[in-house]
Amino acid sequence: MAQTARLILGDQLNSHHSWYQQVNPNYLYIMIECRGEGSYAPHHLQKVVGIFSAMRQFAQSLESKGHDLYYNRILDSRIDGLQEVLESICVQKGIDSIEIQQPDEWRVQENILKLRNKGFKLSVASSEHFISEPSDFESTFSGKKTFVMETFYRKLRKREGILMDAGQPTGGTWNLDTKNRKKLPKGHHVPPAYLPCTDVSEILHEVLQADLPTIGTLEDPKEFIWPTTREQALNVFEHWLDYGYPLFGDYQDAMTTQSWSLYHSRISFALNIKLINPKEICHRAEQRFREDAGIPLNAAEGFIRQILGWREFMRGVYWFRMPQFATENFFEHKRSLPQWFWTGETNMKCQSHAIKQSLTYSYAHHIQRLMVTGNFALLAGIHPDEVDQWYLGIYIDAFEWVEITNTRGMSQYADGGWIATKPYAASANYMSKMGDYCEQCVYNPRTKLEKDSCPLNTLYWDFFDRNRDKLGSNFRLGMVYRTYDKMSPELKSGIRTKAAQVLNSIEQI
Ligand code: FAD
Repeated sequence: MAQTARLILGDQLNSHHSWYQQVNPNYLYIMIECRGEGSYAPHHLQKVVGIFSAMRQFAQSLESKGHDLYYNRILDSRIDGLQEVLESICVQKGIDSIEIQQPDEWRVQENILKLRNKGFKLSVASSEHFISEPSDFESTFSGKKTFVMETFYRKLRKREGILMDAGQPTGGTWNLDTKNRKKLPKGHHVPPAYLPCTDVSEILHEVLQADLPTIGTLEDPKEFIWPTTREQALNVFEHWLDYGYPLFGDYQDAMTTQSWSLYHSRISFALNIKLINPKEICHRAEQRFREDAGIPLNAAEGFIRQILGWREFMRGVYWFRMPQFATENFFEHKRSLPQWFWTGETNMKCQSHAIKQSLTYSYAHHIQRLMVTGNFALLAGIHPDEVDQWYLGIYIDAFEWVEITNTRGMSQYADGGWIATKPYAASANYMSKMGDYCEQCVYNPRTKLEKDSCPLNTLYWDFFDRNRDKLGSNFRLGMVYRTYDKMSPELKSGIRTKAAQVLNSIEQI
């Protein structure tokens, strides 16, 4: 008879965790498909179904190895809160001792820890997933006013010996970001990505019956396209090493309507639910780079920087700055997201394409998130709470620790510059330089005040104008303000008027 419950959260599907190295009848593993977790923000249907599918297969594999497991399906309980379901299972089983793995989300951790007040003995183990600990982040940045990703990235690269040669960065350079910015040439064909194929019909049926609030679509439940087992995730990654890795570096920042994931790896969902491990992915990417002359350094460094650099850095920021981080609104933005964020029905080709793709696949690549939808929300002055909710719901890989840091921090600059040294704001000039959207758009990317001028062009200048008191002294924006100051008073006034018109008709643009 088990004496201790071990909770496995839906994003803790790490089969290599030391918990599972021995079968021990003292432990009852508990997995909960929870109504509250599925509905605290409306999530994409593929995200809910994908997590439940991965959880059920993980549970089966633990049981097949002889572990004692209690699995609560979504229709098994009408109770909302995760900790309440957990409490009721423990009471039912006569267990008062609970072990958890460190949750990734502050809210989840706070809720579960409340069980201590109800007389449960509760201990927290590492999730054995990340390369760094929150204490590494703290010791790097404690007392600093801003956090610099590059500092943390270099520290981890040295410590882990990844892409290092005799103590120096491979190729002599730490960061090849400037070599990650090519536009896709005309006529360039992007090879199709490998997609796993899982039948999730039964789970979809149960999710629909449970009536959870969801967004987006799931086209064919017999051929679910996201990896839900470790084996599938490794397959996705290995295929990507063949077709995507060589050009990942060159086209990392490119945007196109001809492919929904370009040369991006699509491993974030599998990584975030811990089917695969960031260190193993970085080592495998490095190994392939060293064995294969067809992989350039800008691809290897660019890819490893995203995981060893940005992903670990964002987790550090999250635990260092929460819970205050979730309330920050540096620009005091108040506007609501236009309704077309839930349909993609806007005349702006960049927005419509990125949003429709997100509703269809629960995925957009980094530059679409940052420079298309995120850029629009920033320029239009949307309240960061609304922006966060949208990003947290729509993307298959969205878990608060990595969503809010990217959205509220990097994209919306709502933290006032802890993460980004300047706001990621762009006019149509950037869109046409990096993508093929403008060629297919009714708006003219080159003008500002004409009837068909791209709305981004006036919103861009209006954003910098109205936030001069907050941004004017930022040394990285000197050029922007110098250019603005050279504009004639008539042009400046025209920009203000046109921007106000755009914002007043935001639902119709
Ligand atoms: P690739 O481009 O192939 O990159 C490889 C891996 O690097 C990713 O799988 C991811 O694990 C990691 N990575 C890349 N960029 C980042 C980053 N900025 N922060 C953390 N990890 C990174 N990523 C999430 O995992 N969940 C989110 O909820 C999320 N929300 C975002 C919101 C906004 C506004 C922005 C700008 C970015 C967000 N990102 C988020 C980061 C990034 O866009 C996604 O990780 C990436 O698009 C996932 O696709 P991929 O696996 O094909 O990535």
